[in-house]
Amino acid sequence: MKNTQPAQLFRKLPSVDEVMRSPAISALAVSHGHEPVTDAARVVLSGLRREIASGLLDDHALGLALSGLPHAVESQLRRALSYSLRPLINATGVILHTNLGRAPLGEAAIEHIREIAASYSNLEFDIEQGARGQRDAHVDRLFRKLLSQGALGIGASMPEEAVSTGSDISTIVVNNNAAAVLLALNTLAEGEEVIVSRGELVEIGGSFRIPDVMAKSGAILREVGTTNRTRATDYRGAITERTRLLLRVHRSNFEITGFTEQPSTAELVTLARERGIPLMEDLGSGALLDLRSVGINGEPGVLDSLRSGVDIVTYSGDKLLGGPQAGLISGASKLVARMRSNSLFRALRVDKLIYAALEAILLAYVRHDHDAIPTLRMMRLSKGEIGKRAEALASRIPLHRLNFEIVDGDSLLGGGSAPSSVLPTRLLALVCLGLSADELAAELRSSDPPIVARVDEGRVLLDLRTVFPEQDDALAAAITRISA
Ligand SMILES: *Cc1c(COP(=O)(O)O)cnc(C)c1O
Repeated sequence: MKNTQPAQLFRKLPSVDEVMRSPAISALAVSHGHEPVTDAARVVLSGLRREIASGLLDDHALGLALSGLPHAVESQLRRALSYSLRPLINATGVILHTNLGRAPLGEAAIEHIREIAASYSNLEFDIEQGARGQRDAHVDRLFRKLLSQGALGIGASMPEEAVSTGSDISTIVVNNNAAAVLLALNTLAEGEEVIVSRGELVEIGGSFRIPDVMAKSGAILREVGTTNRTRATDYRGAITERTRLLLRVHRSNFEITGFTEQPSTAELVTLARERGIPLMEDLGSGALLDLRSVGINGEPGVLDSLRSGVDIVTYSGDKLLGGPQAGLISGASKLVARMRSNSLFRALRVDKLIYAALEAILLAYVRHDHDAIPTLRMMRLSKGEIGKRAEALASRIPLHRLNFEIVDGDSLLGGGSAPSSVLPTRLLALVCLGLSADELAAELRSSDPPIVARVDEGRVLLDLRTVFPEQDDALAAAITRISA
């Protein structure tokens, strides 16, 4: 390798103007506009300058790079002009994958978003009166209906008669559940005290920590009990004339087992009623259905909480509900009304597109059309159905470099839902000659659309539970390409 001085190499670099005058690049400028192409040329040239400066390019390598300049500028241009946010195939089997955007929306929600986004709407307009209306009216009516009936299993038919929750329940929508907790604490307890068990001072991924949110809300945290054991008497003993709220936080992403104790919801409700202090539960995932019918236990339902007398519950729109990112606050109308008139609510409110998506999802619940909600559909898939699809997929893969096996495994709910809730599934386990499992996973990610899979014990595991059947072809094509 000839040791050329960087100064000599720099002299070989063309100027941006020279690059722009070359035939291939000027043709690009005609079709894509002068400015974006100039920007792309600048990015490519400064990349080469950096490589020369750090000694990564010798004379020969620079010559190669320069002959490939038109191609490099074109790829840079394509990258710069394409979306960064892209759809991908989730083959991890984690249904509510926070990094992959949690709940995908169904057709009806997309269609409703489309029509509301493309037009003016009655977001805050009462069509009958011709006067200003409230944006939460659109979903509050549906929540009222859903929260006044019994908790059904997925796919169960309409209830014979509505079972009343016994009190007037309203719901408001904010940006996410973190915002819901912040708004509720600020409204009910700013400058005053909130009692929380030490076993529930949780951190949920993405830096949501109860003590931090409490501090930001202006409420004062009063911790009671210990990490593993807290009793109703601990709450009782901590109540002062400054106590404004008893808060219970769902342990969404962990479990405490062994020598443990927690007061029942009923005990806390009794205490709260006796002392005239509201009880709030941050449910996190907040299921609207009884998920035991699909084998998911230990997920607290919104209805269970409200029925047992909890005054306020907060939960996410894009966890077990299966909707868009949102934070929902349901509970006693008097308390919810105070939150609605808090100026913080104005800062945390959501856009019309979120209302459109939520309205579509809630209507599906009202109609018991649970198959219209993709995440619920995924939860209901049986291990047998998934296994059949895995076999069909495997039969289409030419076994040049790849080898596969279909094995038992678990799908996960994810997204901070029942930590121990897994759904039995069948996995397509792949190994590829000449590639490590991590390299094979990287190959899958570089497909278009990218495919994200799990890696375990030297194999790549594909779980079709979270792959839409219409994506099976793209999956087969990507695997075939890698195998060839
Ligand atoms: C997930 C979760 C949150 C945060 O909800 P986001 O919608 O992600 O903001 C808060 N509390 C609990 C208990 C959770 O599980």
